[in-house]
Amino acid sequence: MKQFGLIGKKLGHSFSKKYFTDKFDQEQLPENQYDLFELFSISEFPDLLKQHKNLCGLNVTIPYKQEVIPYLDRLAPSAEKTAAVNVIKVEQDGSLSGHNSDYYGFKTSLERFIEGTKEPLKALVLGTGGAAKAVQAALKDLEIPFQMISRTEKAEVLSYDQLKPEVVRENLLIINTTPLGMYPEVDRCPPLPYEAIGPAHYIFDLVYNPETTLLMQKGQAAGAQVKNGLEMLHLQAERSWEIWNA
Ligand code: NAP
Repeated sequence: MKQFGLIGKKLGHSFSKKYFTDKFDQEQLPENQYDLFELFSISEFPDLLKQHKNLCGLNVTIPYKQEVIPYLDRLAPSAEKTAAVNVIKVEQDGSLSGHNSDYYGFKTSLERFIEGTKEPLKALVLGTGGAAKAVQAALKDLEIPFQMISRTEKAEVLSYDQLKPEVVRENLLIINTTPLGMYPEVDRCPPLPYEAIGPAHYIFDLVYNPETTLLMQKGQAAGAQVKNGLEMLHLQAERSWEIWNA
């Protein structure tokens, strides 16, 4: 048996378990299994490895994407760039390597979204959590200048109160990395000066449920291009699989 799984604190509803269980069924890989491992604290991680000798790879979710790093033997460039790990590979010799497939998933999905844009884009990134780290690394690689927006004003980070309509007008790519608008709180959206959004804007919402978030609806109403996080989610899952099988 080859075991894979997800570690996190609360794993009630997991996209990954369904994704990989369906994949193993469809691709007729009955020896493979994907399980959920809820850890109260990351200090339980070494015991988990001892108890599951068949583990070949893990996904990592909130709140352990950074906390797990000291337990790993090495980091791939994707994890170094983002200082966060969402994929762990158990190597042949039992050592652990950390990777970040959110970075790859976002970068690829964004490239597809803005392909063919004529003018160079500048971006606003809403939220400063884990996913925002992958977004920042991808924007740097794509040489897209960006401004971070947070509920809390910090050095080089604007608060929503400081975000003037003219800043929104000149930053044509808006990326939501906050959970605002995610099911079940579908009537929420980031507090932006929406009157400044127009047909030249591209709005990328990392939220994937619902399919069209309130932020995306407002963008569409203003004539903007919009994209949700579903493709990114699939790309990052497939990348996990490639990493485990490399
Ligand atoms: P996280 O580490 O908790 O960060 C979310 C950030 O959003 C926080 O750091 C915070 O930034 C901001 N935020 C949180 N609550 C907010 C509120 N009530 N109002 C305004 N801002 C708020 O979570 P994450 O892992 O980055 O995930 C964030 C979202 O991205 C989730 O919806 C998740 O499902 C989605 N995601 C999607 C994919 C995909 O493949 N599509 C991958 C990863 C994550 P400030 O404190 O700076 O305001």
